[in-house]
Amino acid sequence: MAGSKSIPFLILFSISFAFSQIRVVTNSTPQAIVVIADNPSATAKFAAQELVDHIALATGITLRVIPESNQQEDPFSRLYIGETKAAAKQGIDAKRLPRETFIMRSVGNDLFILGNESDADPLDPRNPDVGTLFGVYEFLENFVNVRWLWPGKLGTFVPRASTIEIPAVKQLEQPALFFRHMRNHGHVMDENSLDARLGFSPSVAQQYHEALDFLYRRHRMGGLDAMPATGHNKIDWRKYGQTHPEWFVLTSEGRRGNPKPGREDPQVSLCVTNEELQDFIIDQWDGKSTLVVGPEDSPGRCLCEKCRAWDAPQPETPPWFATLMYTDEDTDVFYGQTSDRYARFWKVIQEKAAKINPDVLVSVSYLYENEFTAPVADIRLGKNFFGEFVQWRDPHLRYFPMPDAAFEWIKEQWLGWKRTGIRMAYRPNYLHDGYVLPHFETRQSGEFFKFAYEQGMEGTDFDMNTGQWAVQGLRLYMHLRLHSDPELEIETIRQEYFQAFGPAAKSVEKYFDYWEKYAIENTLNFIQNMEVRRYAKYPLEVHEAFPPEVFVPATALLERALKEAQSSPLSEFAERVKFLQIGLQHALLTIELAAIHDGQKEVPQNRLNDAKGALRNLVQFRKDHEHLFFSDLYHVTSYWEGRCWDMDYFDGL
Ligand SMILES: [Zn+2]
Repeated sequence: MAGSKSIPFLILFSISFAFSQIRVVTNSTPQAIVVIADNPSATAKFAAQELVDHIALATGITLRVIPESNQQEDPFSRLYIGETKAAAKQGIDAKRLPRETFIMRSVGNDLFILGNESDADPLDPRNPDVGTLFGVYEFLENFVNVRWLWPGKLGTFVPRASTIEIPAVKQLEQPALFFRHMRNHGHVMDENSLDARLGFSPSVAQQYHEALDFLYRRHRMGGLDAMPATGHNKIDWRKYGQTHPEWFVLTSEGRRGNPKPGREDPQVSLCVTNEELQDFIIDQWDGKSTLVVGPEDSPGRCLCEKCRAWDAPQPETPPWFATLMYTDEDTDVFYGQTSDRYARFWKVIQEKAAKINPDVLVSVSYLYENEFTAPVADIRLGKNFFGEFVQWRDPHLRYFPMPDAAFEWIKEQWLGWKRTGIRMAYRPNYLHDGYVLPHFETRQSGEFFKFAYEQGMEGTDFDMNTGQWAVQGLRLYMHLRLHSDPELEIETIRQEYFQAFGPAAKSVEKYFDYWEKYAIENTLNFIQNMEVRRYAKYPLEVHEAFPPEVFVPATALLERALKEAQSSPLSEFAERVKFLQIGLQHALLTIELAAIHDGQKEVPQNRLNDAKGALRNLVQFRKDHEHLFFSDLYHVTSYWEGRCWDMDYFDGL
């Protein structure tokens, strides 16, 4: 547990530092007032409220919020939140701070927290004027030990304290990553849709997303206005295929067009060595904005001689865990890794564009599919290029946990791309995995996040947070925490999460260890026995991947945890264990229905009554517990179940 700090779960304890200078609350007596400007910004008002609310949860005391020219009282400490005349008088100026940055500084017995602020919505992830708010969250995390585990009240762990006193501070901080994003499913659904009847009620979905916005901001997610534009190839085959077939790939069958026979996609990969096409791309560009030249969103690249001449020599035998990075699984055609070809293409595009605008940013968008491996040739791209690292295609390296050899290999690819000098972000898809099951891991994924950060990652765009808080919450919490502090040790973060279960912390740790071990031990089984596209097809195979007997020890661990948690007079610890139990029960009910479908979209006629019964139980369970936000049920029904199962038999239930 190197570097970790232990947080006692005592019912009442003091957060008091040697040489305390600022007193917030002492022995359950308020010692401070919160001071804001007479005309505070939306950021400052919101930040002050967040501060007061969390201190009240910790101490039971609600501090008063006072406009600065209206101060009658003489408290021990004043907590100035946001820009104030008092801060200006002390020479503390937030005006020239970089985006999302704050100053936290004590002067005598008073504390100043201020940074960028405005009247824009503080919860909008594209709003960079939130320095003051980020300062308050830093304060709450470091001095009040607040932990935001999952969306909603139960997921907010605030240790009780009778005293909050802090030492002199002087801190100036900006987020370690410029942009920090975990995508999530939308929440706008029709009242009468099957989704609304099988999963989230529309109003609860709305509440869930509001709670999620808070959770994300408290973890300082956002900065999305600083994320460069990305996108796949936009040259439309339907528009240009007739007049310029030579702009598009030469297929293994010797024709130009879609390498997947029978597919009518408008998007077809390009013959990137075609100079007329290169000039056309420049002609289409407005000369100012980011020039987006992402590759196609599926494997298959041009097989013409000129394009292949730009490639590096291909391995005779690709690594055993990466064969699908080289050969298309649907057509068995070997395309190889075409990173050298594309890096050269991107460079040609940048050189042509630089004649119009020398500062052009070329967004290569995705280091992905056939361009995942680092270029072999010594090719220099530099800071006018931006790309997002996406491990994908081969199931051995799509998901965590992955075989150790694959783990080392993807790190090498990151380092190789970094050597080209390109600006890099991380855009993985592995959080899609796991359906509603306790299928997750924290070790490799956490380690890779930290590795990428140390090796130049400037931001993230995770696709996506599926919201399975009750079964995969440890993994999601770890990802949120790493976004605000990538230098934290994984073990420290894990212990923070377990502490929120009070006297049950140890048993809850064992519970999560049990499932993580199951995922690690079955890494290859999952790959061999489940669909390559398992992230979307999970409901078809879940009953085989998670047979009922594996739930027995896990259920027992949670029963023990519940007894331990109930020994505390604070009910929140037991409530959190029950939250985990709800996730597990939900998984079991879902598996029951999956087993009846048994890999089929349609339920066999002779099992229709069983299916109706299982679905009725599942839906009832969801409706009974949806308000706890144990699962983003809209994601569950629309993304997974709706794609895999035909549940029209719900009509008439
Ligand atoms: Zn070509």
